Order: sequence, then structure tokens, then C-alpha cells
Amino acid sequence: MAQGQLPLAHRASDLIGSIIDSSTSLLARQTHDIVRFAMGAPSDDLMPVELLDRYSAHSVPGKYSYGSTEGEPDLVEQIIKLQTDHGIATTADRITVTTGGMQGLDLACKLFVDPGDLVIVEGPTYTNGNATALSYGAQLIEAPLDDNGLVVEALPDLVAQAGRTPKAIYTIPNFQNPSGVTLSQRRRELLLDLAGQWGSVIIDDDPYGLLRFENRPIPALSQLDPGNRLIFSVRTFSKILAPGLRIGWVDADPGLQSLLINAKQAMDTCTSVPAQRTVTDFLAGGHLQPHLERVRGLYRERKDAMRTALQHHFGDAVRVTDPDGGFFLWVTFAGKVVDTQALFETALAEGVAYIPGPAFSTADNFHDALRLCFATSTPERIDEGVARLKRAVDAIGAAR
Ligand code: PMP
Repeated sequence: MAQGQLPLAHRASDLIGSIIDSSTSLLARQTHDIVRFAMGAPSDDLMPVELLDRYSAHSVPGKYSYGSTEGEPDLVEQIIKLQTDHGIATTADRITVTTGGMQGLDLACKLFVDPGDLVIVEGPTYTNGNATALSYGAQLIEAPLDDNGLVVEALPDLVAQAGRTPKAIYTIPNFQNPSGVTLSQRRRELLLDLAGQWGSVIIDDDPYGLLRFENRPIPALSQLDPGNRLIFSVRTFSKILAPGLRIGWVDADPGLQSLLINAKQAMDTCTSVPAQRTVTDFLAGGHLQPHLERVRGLYRERKDAMRTALQHHFGDAVRVTDPDGGFFLWVTFAGKVVDTQALFETALAEGVAYIPGPAFSTADNFHDALRLCFATSTPERIDEGVARLKRAVDAIGAAR
């Protein structure tokens, strides 16, 4: 039977996938040396691999059976402690363990987004956040972003132009993916006000908040307004521990927990019990804090190395963000002379991978920009990768 004749659901055409995730397979197929600035993942040497291996070998009764959908109680307890230690009090009836942050985003959209609903997203934003909202038929509005995060002051005009209020506002408040910028406290407060006026849920996606290596933390949305029912927080261990574990959690209004459980039961019954046990034992062993302290210093070094390399190789030809934490730099080419999508193939052949700007927009914006992940490579490799990027830019310039 030809592909066109398959009885696909209408929603299948709204599934856009992720250029970022596909880069993992693309890179796995390459046989030459590539400096990897594409995926947002810690390098193996910055994951506590030995400890995780040791804990994953622990044998406990029921480890390979089904677990409760809301999460292993011991892990929920550790998550409550982790949040409380960072000033964000919570309770077990607010926590649902998820299969990575992605499942948290999926659950948020599944519970709040009907086809045709307006969802405000940051422009640029995390590709998979857009993809998730679109998979539920959302109509996205891309709101501008500057050095202080989402330009919340612009939202009333965007909403007036749209002629209706948003069902959800999707924000990545700390060290945003892809730009690295952080939402200021004043804007967090304004966002809470506007969401309250409009009755919009705030999908507060914060995988990087604990990876701050400069300056003081800004209070989380739920610290500024504890108990606000419109805040739906999506968290993950992927960036602070290891993405392959696929463990995250949602912290949301207790009234949502039974719905989250129903929705999750129709997805995966429960999150992997062995992976939850490994994370639980790691946390209970008191290893997270020392691990974070170690990696924060190394990430700062890597960020500095990447900014220095960009300055050295490109000078004023690029504008580069200067994040206080997280994984990413957002690089914009001056004068719109470089199309980062067109550059990609040449860069890959030169031996460097990144994510082109348009991947972070559903409006085909940001052709003059790209995202670089500094978390995966050593300072020496970072310099080499940026030098390769410069060669690729020169090569397409010469070919024009
Ligand atoms: N949100 C953002 C902003 C992210 O950067 C990521 C991972 N790249 C996720 C969610 C998804 O996290 P996970 O890998 O735990 O599904």
C-alpha cells in the first residue's frame, strides 16, 4: 500500500519532530571527527557515571516490576527535599514523576491545550516545546526575547492583535534554550499578573536553573507566588544529572494530580522503575550538591572558552549572549550575511555541528543565528570547533 493511502489521523500532519533530536542520529552516521555543539547534553566526563553505575547495580525488591504512576515514593521524597533545599517548598500531592522533561511538556499540553488554542512561546524557544504544543493543535504566537528574557511587556499588544487570550504561556525562565538569557524578576512578576488576568496557565520549564555559575538566583515563579494554581512547573534530571536516565517531574496544583495520573497511564503506565531507583539512591547518598558544585565551575570555564574563541575567530562579525548558567550560547551574525541553515552542511563537512536558528521558530525566523552548546566539549575542543565554524563561514562566503 502506498504511504499516501494509510489512514493517518489529522493530527499526524501536526507532528513536526525535532531537528535537535534528529541531530543525534545524523551525527552517529558520520565517520569523521566532529566537534559537537549541537545536542544540549553534558559530556560523559561531566556525568557521575561511576556512581550511577554503582547505584543502578543495586538489587531491590520490585525494581523490575511496574511502579506507581505518580512516581516511586522514595524518589518523590527526594524531589521534595531537593526543591525545599532550594527554597521552593512543595508536597507529594503536587509532584508527578515523568519520563524526562519532555513528558512534562506533553502532559501540560495534553491537559490544557485544545486544537486552535493560542499558546504564547518565546521566539526563539526550545524546538520540542513548540513541537509538543503543535501536536495538540495549538496556534503559536512567538513573543520577542531580549537580554532579560521574554519581553513580557509586549504580550498585551500581541494578545490584542490576536483578539483572544492565550490558554498557555510557555517560558524557560533560566538560561533559556536556545538563547541562554534569564527572565528578570520584574518580568516574572508581570507575567504572573498577566497570566492571572487572562487565566492562562504558565508552563514554567526550567531544566537549567540549578546550573547557575554567575550572579545570584532570581526567585522562581512559584516562589514569587506560592500556591498559584496557574503555574505548571516542568523539571528534569537530564541536565543536572544524566539525560539517558529519562527522569523528570512535574510540580503542579494538587487538583491536577489525578488528571496527570490518568494521562500518564495512557502513555507509559509509569516511569522506568530502575532509573527512578538509581536517581533516588544518588540523591539519598547526598551526591547531587557536590556534583553540581563541580560541574558549575566547569561549565563556566567552557562558556568562557567558547566566548573567547568566538571573539578570537569572528571578532565583531557575531553577537554572542553571555549567560549566567546553563548550556547554550546564541550567536547572531551581523549584517544577515550568513544563513545558518545553508551553512550547516559545510560546517558538518568541516567537522563541527550546531543547531541552526530557524529550528527554534515556527515562523521561520533566526536564519542569521545559531545555537552552540558549550557543555559537551573541553575548552581545547571548543576552540577547535569554533575555528572549524569560521572555516565553514569563509568557505560559503568564498563560494557566493
Ligand atoms: N525543556 C528544555 C528547555 C530543554 O532544553 C530540554 C532538553 N533539551 C527539555 C525540556 C527536555 O528534557 P528531557 O531531556 O528531560 O526530556
